[in-house]
Amino acid sequence: MTFPRFIFVTGGVVSSVGKGIASASVGALLQARGFSLRLKKLEPYINVDPGTINPYKHGEVYVTNDGGETDLDMGHYERFTGIPTRSMDLLTTGKVYSSVISRERSGDYLGSDIQVVPHITDEIKRFVLFEAQDVDFVICEVGGTVGDIESLPFLEAIRQLRLDLGRERSVNIHLTLLPYIASAGELKTKPSQHSVRELRSIGIQPEFLICRSANGFEEATRKKLSLFCNVPEEHIVDAPDASWIYKIPLNFHKSDLDGALCRYFGLKTTHIDLTIWENLVAQWQNPKGTVCIGVFGKYAHFLEAYKSLQEAISHAGVDQKLKVEVRWVDTEDEERVHQTLPEVQGIIVPGGFGTRGIPGKLEAIRYARENKVPFLGICLGMQLVIIEAARQLLHLPDASSTEFGETSEPVVALMTEWMQGAQLQKRTALGDMGGTMRLGAYPCVVQPGTRLAEVYEGQKIIEERHRHRYEVNNTYKERLEKVGLCFSGVSPDGNLPEVVEYKDHPWFVAVQFHPEFKSRPFAPHPLFVRLVQTAWQRKGKGHEA
Ligand code: GLN
Repeated sequence: MTFPRFIFVTGGVVSSVGKGIASASVGALLQARGFSLRLKKLEPYINVDPGTINPYKHGEVYVTNDGGETDLDMGHYERFTGIPTRSMDLLTTGKVYSSVISRERSGDYLGSDIQVVPHITDEIKRFVLFEAQDVDFVICEVGGTVGDIESLPFLEAIRQLRLDLGRERSVNIHLTLLPYIASAGELKTKPSQHSVRELRSIGIQPEFLICRSANGFEEATRKKLSLFCNVPEEHIVDAPDASWIYKIPLNFHKSDLDGALCRYFGLKTTHIDLTIWENLVAQWQNPKGTVCIGVFGKYAHFLEAYKSLQEAISHAGVDQKLKVEVRWVDTEDEERVHQTLPEVQGIIVPGGFGTRGIPGKLEAIRYARENKVPFLGICLGMQLVIIEAARQLLHLPDASSTEFGETSEPVVALMTEWMQGAQLQKRTALGDMGGTMRLGAYPCVVQPGTRLAEVYEGQKIIEERHRHRYEVNNTYKERLEKVGLCFSGVSPDGNLPEVVEYKDHPWFVAVQFHPEFKSRPFAPHPLFVRLVQTAWQRKGKGHEA
């Protein structure tokens, strides 16, 4: 048993400076030095989880194996370190208060009045320390920006923890932005100085600064930051914008962040092996060609909502030594749908909720099926494959999902009961919005001799992550099989179709789960790899973009 060192990562000046990727990169570097770790996130918003936040506001909801609806940064943690995250690795203000209030209701506080300090802060400290004893490092990112009202209890908890743990067991890395003022021709350090001052007023002196800027800073800037922020020069990391996020661990290493951290903690490690990272970046830099994939979805103007999808496509491209140009199409714009379809060599219809843009998505599916364009349907994309087949091939014009309104042909319908292991799960149509879905990893039995079996290299049972309320209605299965749809993956009890495919097509697979959550740069997901591969083959046959 070890006792870990704690690395707290905070952010200042503006939001979206990349604390998640910075935390994940620090994790990757420490791993490359042979240390074990766990990444956790403290999220100041009051929602219990981001499952109910509009993706336009907070980006994608990242689903963990154990069914947690978490933040997109957890996806970065997994992709950079390969360590699966758990729902308990994310703590929100909503979760803290729910837990404290439920404890108060059951009388656990024995008559005391419940206060932010110590009750709320104790709850936060418990979370940070939970199951920490088996790793060398816990990296704990604090969401939001220093100065936000909501962050205060979290920063106060960190201040207390740092006192309990001592400096030799804890460190604060503060991430800031150096804006460039063109008229002065200078990068400005003042916002970083203010943000450090704000942190100090809470009682936290950062030992390290990671400073983001477009092109990096000069030595004079380092000196100034050091003087005014009270941080040693060798603890100030130059973080210029990176052309690919997987270059960031190498960039941090160039600034010797990992070496300085080890010295700070008095750890004697001399060896770091970054070969896998160097090879990955080299492979990304030298593609043999370009292939064009169209994603026909909803959030074409806010790609944070498709973070894992974007990454999974990028991993597959690098694996195939191809640059993948992605055309993001909002299917409400049907003209653009029609315009784009002939320009791409592969088509993805991703997951989604609600009725917006459904006709455009169905059109993309019809086009892919009829024109033999490589296709991957994900979650809603899979449900729409069923609807498209029922309408076009079974000639049921009313075929629809009960998600889109009442229908006489519910080929996709709300499931109110299903098995999770040996346990029956029940939901009602009017239940809570949060937590009424089939969430997290579920097994899927792979039918032998199918595309699915081929791509999963003969595995009989696979496990993938789910996030949906509606299911394909099994009663239409036989009829759909007769018109060529193969149900190549089903739940172990046979009740829930998980994967469908067309055999008389170069590559057309649609899955009820979200494969994108499990794709990693060093382990690209086979469903995306095969899509990119078959799209490249199509390009070779003269289907130029
Ligand atoms: N809206 C669909 C459902 O709830 C699909 C969800 C998704 O694509 N993640 O079942």
